[in-house]
Amino acid sequence: MSDPELPNLVLPGDYLGAAEEYLPGHGTYENRGRIYASVLGKPKVDPRDRTVRVDARNGIPEVAEGDLVYARVEEVKTAMLICALLGRAGTRRRLPGEPEGTVHISKAREGYTESFQGEFAVGDVLLARVLQSEPSVKLTTAPPPLGVVAARCQSCRALLTMGTQENEMVCPRCGNVERRKVAKGPRPDAPGDGAPAL
Ligand SMILES: [Zn+2]
Repeated sequence: MSDPELPNLVLPGDYLGAAEEYLPGHGTYENRGRIYASVLGKPKVDPRDRTVRVDARNGIPEVAEGDLVYARVEEVKTAMLICALLGRAGTRRRLPGEPEGTVHISKAREGYTESFQGEFAVGDVLLARVLQSEPSVKLTTAPPPLGVVAARCQSCRALLTMGTQENEMVCPRCGNVERRKVAKGPRPDAPGDGAPAL
C-alpha cells in the first residue's frame, strides 16, 4: 500500500498529489483539483483505485466496544464501508482526527446483503455501534435503530428527508427518491453544533 512517491510522514495541509492522479481518501481533502493531508500521519495509495489516504499517527480512537457513534461514509468498497468516526452519540464533542471505522457488509443490516447499493452511499452519516475498538474500529449498523441518519441527494446534493415508504428518502429540491438503510429510532445528540452532522 505504501507509495514510493509519497513521504513517510505528512502534516495537515501537505500537498499529496493532483486530483487527476489520485482519488481523495480518508485523512485527505481536495481543494481546486489538488489533494492535501487533513491529519498528521502516513500517506498510502491504494493501487487498485489510486485512492490516497493518510492514516493518522495520533488518531487513537477514543471509543470503546459497545459505544454508539456517528460516522460518515468515506468510501464504499465491495464488502466494506470505510467511515470517519465523527464522535460518540449523546455528546457534542467531535473525535479529533476523525479516526477510521469500518462496517463489514455482513454487519450492515439484518439478513443477508449482497451489495451496499440502495443501502448506503458516500457522505451518508450513520448511527453505528462499536463492535471492536482495537486494533481497528469495527462497526455495526445492523439493528433497526442503527443506520443512516442523514444523507445527501445523489443528483443535487441537497439533504434528503424521510420518504413515506420504509427505507426511502426523498430530495425536497429535485424530487429524487433514494433508498437507504435508515435508522429507526431516537437520535441521540450529534457532535458539533446540533446541525446535521454532514
Ligand atoms: Zn436532489
